[in-house]
Amino acid sequence: MHIPFNKIYLSGQEAPFLQEVLLSGKLNADGLFSPRCRDYFKEHYHFENTFLTTSCTAALEMMALLLDLQPGDEIIAPAYTFVSTVNPFILRGATIRFADSQPHSPNIDPDSVAALINTKTKAIIVMHYAGQACDMHALEALSKEFQITLLEDAAHAIDAYYDNRPLGSFAAMSAFSFHASKNIVAGEGGLLVINDTQYLKRAQLIFEKGTNRTAFSKGEVPAYEWMDIGSSFAASELSAACLYAQLSSLSVIQSKRKALWQAYYNALSSLAEQQYFELPTLLNAEEHNAHLFFIVCKSKEERVKLSAYLKEKGIETAFHYQALNQSPFYKNHYPALHLPQAERYADCLLRLPLYPDLTMEELQYIVHEIQAFFKN
Ligand SMILES: *Cc1c(COP(=O)(O)O)cnc(C)c1O
Repeated sequence: MHIPFNKIYLSGQEAPFLQEVLLSGKLNADGLFSPRCRDYFKEHYHFENTFLTTSCTAALEMMALLLDLQPGDEIIAPAYTFVSTVNPFILRGATIRFADSQPHSPNIDPDSVAALINTKTKAIIVMHYAGQACDMHALEALSKEFQITLLEDAAHAIDAYYDNRPLGSFAAMSAFSFHASKNIVAGEGGLLVINDTQYLKRAQLIFEKGTNRTAFSKGEVPAYEWMDIGSSFAASELSAACLYAQLSSLSVIQSKRKALWQAYYNALSSLAEQQYFELPTLLNAEEHNAHLFFIVCKSKEERVKLSAYLKEKGIETAFHYQALNQSPFYKNHYPALHLPQAERYADCLLRLPLYPDLTMEELQYIVHEIQAFFKN
């Protein structure tokens, strides 16, 4: 048996929608499918102001431009995340202050955030690992108390909730990813959501390479002109067509993923109770989006042995992030920093295969081999 770590899911609508775009002759942004995708986000999540971008990284770069960062400004970010959570702010000249993960979750620890807040803090960016919400009550409270902008890297978090509110709706701005590794895919693609409307006008300029083309196309100005800095952020219609095909099947995708996630959780809970490893702990099990299934091994050595054992059995697994405070880039620029929880997840977390086309038989086989590893 060979079980890959990930497989993209196709709804069946991708090819006809792509064909429709090609035959329409309008391949650039804002043709047939981009508005349909944006309407979907408005209808389902009340995201009123959205920009379909070439990637989540691009959406985060727009966010960083919109903050108008000055030398000396600091951004508080989780260390246990992908580089795109922080690179866009470094590109704008900000300094990153890394916060630790929680002892029971890879998500950012609000106490660690609180300890880093000072007069130079310009924003706090959080990342909802595996589509499981950060402690948004505590983080919103910090943002209000110190009047610091809150941002969400919601790359993992499409169709995930906290307190019945969609993730991506808590912060001033948030960014989603439709990269091939995520729950719904556009090949490459992303979404910027503007919740705080003070950023909206400038976002339209930056999105349109610094011009007021949006206002021009609405007939609000007689000509379009260069108004601000900006870049090329818009997703092509080909990506939007693929994304819309996936959105049309979102409920199927999510129910398959959730059933598999729950099956893993149930089948592995007795080993977790015997403390062979830790399972994810959720603030609210109903609200996550089953983006990833992971276990946390007791040591780096045990994780390496387990993944090698599973590989021998034909099962592909994957480690995840390096703790960014330990990365060569950060270590060379900033004094060494020790963040015990982020480093523990970097060393010990192992992701198991999870995708809509994984069968229950395959999942049982994976569970069986994990049991065999620990019990022999
Ligand atoms: C995937 C991912 C990104 C980047 O998404 P792209 O669409 O590939 O740019 C950013 N942050 C996190 C946490 C991610 O997992």
